[in-house]
Amino acid sequence: ATPAATMVGTTIGAQNGVLFKGGDILERVKDVETVVFDKTGTLTKGEMTLTDVVALGPAADGSGVVTADDEALDETAVLRYAASAERNSEHPLARAIVTGAEERGIDLSDPEAFENVPGHGIRATVDGQTVLVGNRKLLSDDGIDPSPAEDALRALEDDGKTAMLVAVDGELAGIVADADEVKDTARAAVSALRERGTEVHMITGDNERTARAVAAQVGIDPSNVSAGVLPEDKADAVESLQSDGTKVMMVGDGVNDAPALAAAFVGTALGSGTDVAIEAADVTLMRDDPQDVVKAIRISEGTLSKIK
Ligand code: ADP
Ligand code: MG
Repeated sequence: ATPAATMVGTTIGAQNGVLFKGGDILERVKDVETVVFDKTGTLTKGEMTLTDVVALGPAADGSGVVTADDEALDETAVLRYAASAERNSEHPLARAIVTGAEERGIDLSDPEAFENVPGHGIRATVDGQTVLVGNRKLLSDDGIDPSPAEDALRALEDDGKTAMLVAVDGELAGIVADADEVKDTARAAVSALRERGTEVHMITGDNERTARAVAAQVGIDPSNVSAGVLPEDKADAVESLQSDGTKVMMVGDGVNDAPALAAAFVGTALGSGTDVAIEAADVTLMRDDPQDVVKAIRISEGTLSKIK
């Protein structure tokens, strides 16, 4: 493109809240063949709310037999342990659990110890008890069988919720679930990309069932969903899609996404995303609107000439 065309594209982009990091980026966006969206905060609003608390005391393990030393925690106790344990976590899932407990008038304890287990959950000590909050793997790695929770977990996950197991003192105690809403324009963005012949994928650290439920809501094919991807593995996932020469645009907002944004043919960050993501990206969408991915492509093609 001529310097003048680059100038025009950059200006139209800026007017539409689409910032390209230079003229070569503006040119390359039109060649994108596959778009990979991060789920949380990119396709969804990233505003988690606590929706469910389930108590899974010993009587609920299917045996129906409660012995003298079985003290099933009720829902309030499950939430109190989970929220107290999550007090030191910055994760949006954790913030929703703490806020949910506070809104329900539950008095929380300050954890005596706290540890993040990236991609899986947290471990804390609350009132002298070891508390785990996180996914199936977090519990099974600690020798706690998550299977008695499976039916309840699946029901929540099929609803698109992120369900987290709560274990107290080495025993499965219950489940807390957070929900997030899909952005209003996510479905339209996916369908506009597919109409253009662009493949659309979704990648997330969240579990398979929740991921598929969200993918269905926005119109992404289940076979294009990568779930349970650890933060350090997101870039590898992008590289493997690119291994046959496919030109991939990764769209994300989180610190977790930065390496994948850098690895992609085009990295696109949301303006509300973390500074690390914006720095790693080639394009920034100031309006946080997934439909602006389509705008970015059209500007690059020179087919978006009018300001809407
Ligand atoms: P995402 O891509 O959704 O940001 P993460 O890699 O941060 O995913 O987390 C993956 C999974 O690990 C979550 O879906 C959740 O099950 C569990 N997890 C992570 N952090 C926490 C936490 N603070 N409390 C409970 N569970 C957590
Ligand atoms: Mg995200």
